[in-house]
Amino acid sequence: MTARILVVDDIPANVKLLEVRLLAEYFEVLTASNGEDAIETCENGKVDVVLLDVMMPGMDGFEVCRRLKADPATAHIPVVMITALGEVADRVNGLEAGADDFLTKPVNDLQLMTRVKSLVRLKMLTDELRLRAATTRNIGIEELLSRRFPEDDLTPKVLLIDERPSSCDTIRRFLAGKAELDIVNDPQAGFFQAAEEAYECVLISTGFADHDPLRLCSQLRSIDRTRFLPIILLADLGDENRIIRGLELGVNDYLVRPIDEHELTARLRTQVKRKRYNDHLRASVTQTIEMAVTDGLTGLHNRRYLDSHLRTLFDRAVSRRRPLSVLILDLDRFKSINDTHGHDGGDDVLREFAGRLRKNVRGIDLACRYGGEEFVVVMPDTEASIAERVAERIRAEIERNPFAVGKEGLTIGLTISVGVSSVLRKRDTVEDLMKRADLALYEAKSGGRNRVVAKAA
Ligand code: GH3
Ligand code: MG
Ligand code: MG
Repeated sequence: MTARILVVDDIPANVKLLEVRLLAEYFEVLTASNGEDAIETCENGKVDVVLLDVMMPGMDGFEVCRRLKADPATAHIPVVMITALGEVADRVNGLEAGADDFLTKPVNDLQLMTRVKSLVRLKMLTDELRLRAATTRNIGIEELLSRRFPEDDLTPKVLLIDERPSSCDTIRRFLAGKAELDIVNDPQAGFFQAAEEAYECVLISTGFADHDPLRLCSQLRSIDRTRFLPIILLADLGDENRIIRGLELGVNDYLVRPIDEHELTARLRTQVKRKRYNDHLRASVTQTIEMAVTDGLTGLHNRRYLDSHLRTLFDRAVSRRRPLSVLILDLDRFKSINDTHGHDGGDDVLREFAGRLRKNVRGIDLACRYGGEEFVVVMPDTEASIAERVAERIRAEIERNPFAVGKEGLTIGLTISVGVSSVLRKRDTVEDLMKRADLALYEAKSGGRNRVVAKAA
């Protein structure tokens, strides 16, 4: 794992110390000796994690953190505050400034590496989501990020998997009022519980009498439901090797017993905050992608989706020597429906038609709204004769059952014309296929409408 770490400290010797350790782990290191430079570097360069000293003349670390977190361009960069030993107030201030993690001076090597690696991993995930969001084009990343994020003060739902009663009692006490906590004693039962419920973080004890907690971690990382669920290990003193292996498996953070109440709540809060941010980003990306390929009126796929997907289906059919058919369906005299019942009445008909179309084709068929009142169905593995029969069935169904328009129980009769074409020869192209279907549709219209025409080669 390589990443770019920005070390910010006003004392050159401190910078050097961290730089040397990070370089030894093959991280790239950038440095800054004051807040202004740090912010500028974050704005300009590709910084993956910031290690930020709290005590600096001029702008202190809290203020730097606050500014980074307030700017949508830098808010996603994880910030680790480096505080003096035992300064609980510093941690609280850091949390309020939006810090993602803390390290205390003198910085312990294991802690430094594990925190940095865990944050880098999360940052990579966030970066990938941001990139995907940006490449869906329809939407700018700034727009996406400026959307309101879910409330941070919602009580998180947390699962504790721990078989020691005294430890469970302690955690329960520490998290009272701060988390909605479920406790499971058996690791295997805990795994199923984590997969079934919507937790925002899971705390796993390393102290099972005869169970390997890391197996549980790797199980949680291997299934979709819990892949992005933050895991915090509750380790015992001397568990360093296990912690390192856990972090390699994708554990997000750890605490060493005896557990400090403030540290537990701070680390839990960080994990939950980041999960919510990423979940939100992921949902926005999915929604954006869906919006880009879906027709808003009917919920069918749109022409953009058809254009990209038809080619894939076509190439697959040709290479596997499988049949493929296409229907183009056009509502007859649709303009007169708009003229009589208004545009909204026309929209009602289009929506209902789309619903009936969907019901009358198979799940693997691709039904799209091609344009105004024109629809296309792509049917893999379907020969011309069968496609023609399906088209005829849809035509008859439309003719037989009138459409509801408006709210007054008014119904109107409607007919459609359908053009059918199928992949025939090896030298066929997608364009040929669509052109033949279009020609067939034209024939159906000029032949009197309310009919199906299939176009052979
Ligand atoms: P034909 O039988 O030859 O297909 O006649 P037609 O009236 O259906 O065909 P034409 O292509 O001349 O008109 C289509 C009409 O569809 C024109 C347009 O106003 C209407 N239309 C296109 N998109 C929408 C839409 O989203 N909602 C509504 N209500 N009408 C639409
Ligand atoms: Mg029409
Ligand atoms: Mg038309």
